Amino acid sequence: MIEFRNEPFTDFSQEANRRDFETALEKVKSELGKEYDIIIGGEHIKTDRKVKSINPSNLDEVIGIVSEADTALAEKAMQAALTAFESWKKVSPEARARVLFKAAAILRRKKHEFSAWMVLEAGKSWPEADADTAEAIDFMEFYGREMIRLSDRQPLTSIPGEDNNLYYIPLGVGAVIPPWNFPLAIMVGMTTAAVVAGNTVVLKPATPTNVIAYKFMEILKEAGLPDGVVNYVPGPGKEVGEFFVTHPKTRFISFTGSREVGLRINELAAKTVPGQKWIKRVVAEMGGKDSIVVDSDCDIDLAVDSIVKSAFGFSGQKCSACSRAIVHQDVYDEVLQKVVAKTKELKVGEAKTLGIDLGPVIDDKAYNKILEYIEIGKQEGRLMAGGGKADGNGYFIQPTVFADVDPQARISQEEIFGPVVAFIKAKDFDHALSIANNTEFGLTGSVITRNRMHLERAREEFFVGNLYFNRKCTGALVGVHPFGGFNMSGTDSKAGGRDYLLLFTQAKLVSEAL
Ligand code: NAD
Repeated sequence: MIEFRNEPFTDFSQEANRRDFETALEKVKSELGKEYDIIIGGEHIKTDRKVKSINPSNLDEVIGIVSEADTALAEKAMQAALTAFESWKKVSPEARARVLFKAAAILRRKKHEFSAWMVLEAGKSWPEADADTAEAIDFMEFYGREMIRLSDRQPLTSIPGEDNNLYYIPLGVGAVIPPWNFPLAIMVGMTTAAVVAGNTVVLKPATPTNVIAYKFMEILKEAGLPDGVVNYVPGPGKEVGEFFVTHPKTRFISFTGSREVGLRINELAAKTVPGQKWIKRVVAEMGGKDSIVVDSDCDIDLAVDSIVKSAFGFSGQKCSACSRAIVHQDVYDEVLQKVVAKTKELKVGEAKTLGIDLGPVIDDKAYNKILEYIEIGKQEGRLMAGGGKADGNGYFIQPTVFADVDPQARISQEEIFGPVVAFIKAKDFDHALSIANNTEFGLTGSVITRNRMHLERAREEFFVGNLYFNRKCTGALVGVHPFGGFNMSGTDSKAGGRDYLLLFTQAKLVSEAL
């Protein structure tokens, strides 16, 4: 088998690539407004309870109309997953991996089409959508290889007179509850990691991006995944999500989303319910409040570029997004002024238009929450750029920069999850590091400096799961930058890393006396 390699990103400066992407957008547009069923054990089920998926760039455009489950259908899905587990767990790891490789190949062929769905359903710009699809392909290629590695004979210390073997066996039925912000990559990664390890899944997709998750179900079907191994169960998180979390037969919960929901899931999963005979395993990846630290001796333009890219890519709706620029007082004014100038040049617009820098935010809830934080920011800092809504028939918000924010201010502590960055002045590098570590989160961070000793200090003391030096703090690559956070950012599962699949297995040791 060839070694894992990351899927390359599409170069949209090439005319041919642009044309192909336009064609994919046209194809997807011709398919908008269709109805999508729940899928349980391969059976398609329509319900009267429907939820519309809307294009956040154009609120008049319906992406699709999706049937939602209630708890009775969620129970049916759980039963289907339990039944499928009995046969799927016996399929060899290599055969399970081959399903992922096949699905990756299909997705690669339909790459632009999937990215186009994300442009329209999630408001991702072309390059952001393209990176999301590439990451989804990477997850499948990577986890397939990882499962094959784990199914090899594991190294144990040998003793005379015994044959000892350690096997990584599956857990059972998992509830997979992904977020909408990497609607393909994270959903695919969470689902296929569980499946390749031999588990079966009830998938409750994130409501704003139900359709893209459905489209992935089509790929799994085409790749030959048996019915019931992944069950597609859209519905309200509070109702269907919690039903799965509290179900006695749920063996593990794989969640990515907000701190608030992650903590609730962790609490609910810890309560043993009648009929339950294991401790539920919770993998919860949650929010961030990520900082870029800029030192006095640094490449200023690199600092500026890193802040702008990390803060405003996908309108700041990445868990890894930079929402705090912690800048040494000696370079503070220069970095701030250059970031403001660059921010004012950014183009906000419909995601389908190539060349925009920021599309919309995902929905009315996010839109209102971000605008509220911007109002709070006006009390807590000096507004330097943006500061409110942007034009258009969608959830558009101006990229916003606040200066002179107190390290303890709300906009410096709470996750906004939108295009808002707070500048905080640091007296020196020590001060900057202490500010960087002063939130309850610990997901990503960057340090921009030429000072080697400062990099080494940060290497030890900057307490985040993913720390970057002299580059942006977003854009983790599968296999290259295993991803997961400390503190209230989650369980540090390191998605896209070599430890990840272990979370969805249990190790069985068999010792035979010879
Ligand atoms: P969210 O917590 O609102 O929802 C996540 C998922 O949980 C959705 O599928 C939702 O329907 C479901 N859900 C909601 N309430 C539930 C409940 N009571 N029980 C069970 N399930 C429930 O998060 P979101 O808005 O979809 O995503 C944004 C958040 O995700 C941000 O906080 C972001 O930082 C975080 N995130 C973290 C990572 C990471 O790797 N750490 C990656 C991406 C996003």
